[in-house]
Amino acid sequence: MMNDRREPRQADAREGLCGTCRHARVIMSDKGSRFLMCERAKTDPRYRRYPPLPVLSCQGYEPGGSS
Ligand code: SF4
Repeated sequence: MMNDRREPRQADAREGLCGTCRHARVIMSDKGSRFLMCERAKTDPRYRRYPPLPVLSCQGYEPGGSS
């Protein structure tokens, strides 16, 4: 079961573009698993809520998601 607890973003090479995208959010499950959620999926059906990682190409990518 997942909750909506959000964690600070940290760039991770395994995430590909999502690792530095401003539309990505990290979600932690109750069991401590880490998921990356694409917030573009809330309003645009072309994007998957939980994209398979790493994302290597994405038209919705916008930098600025991690510090
Ligand atoms: S817009 Fe693309 S790169 Fe950005 S979080 Fe969504 S799937 Fe990842």
